[in-house]
Amino acid sequence: MKCPFCNQDNTRVVDSRPADDNNSIRRRRLCDECGKRFTTYEKVETIPLIVIKKDQNREQYDRSKIEAGVLRACYKRPIPVLKINEMIDAAETEVFNREDREIESTIIGEIVMDKLKELDPVAYVRFASVYREFKDVNTFMDELKKILK
Ligand SMILES: [Zn+2]
Repeated sequence: MKCPFCNQDNTRVVDSRPADDNNSIRRRRLCDECGKRFTTYEKVETIPLIVIKKDQNREQYDRSKIEAGVLRACYKRPIPVLKINEMIDAAETEVFNREDREIESTIIGEIVMDKLKELDPVAYVRFASVYREFKDVNTFMDELKKILK
């Protein structure tokens, strides 16, 4: 993105968070050329982000896929919907903070797992078991023991 002060292309994101309307992301940017800071509001749906799946196919980033996975993992867990949404917001912000145009689905999975771990251990293990494709019960138990410690 071009710096509005010196018109150079050398800017980077220093902070990024959901804006009040929740459909856009407020970004603080720093220009490496002139050192000035400026703020942009970018609609999430207009920020191009391509997800590289495990089979190397590419698809447009889709928040509802994260939501579906997280909601499945949180099924019947005593977690307020508000907390779940906050967690997804935080994960999404982290995804967009990277400012890469492409991101591997496994990286998104790791980011979501990190956040879920803090939210609810059972939901975390459920999500991880799907995401890491635990091959057998032992791998699953190992992961479970790790977090129960
Ligand atoms: Zn500048």
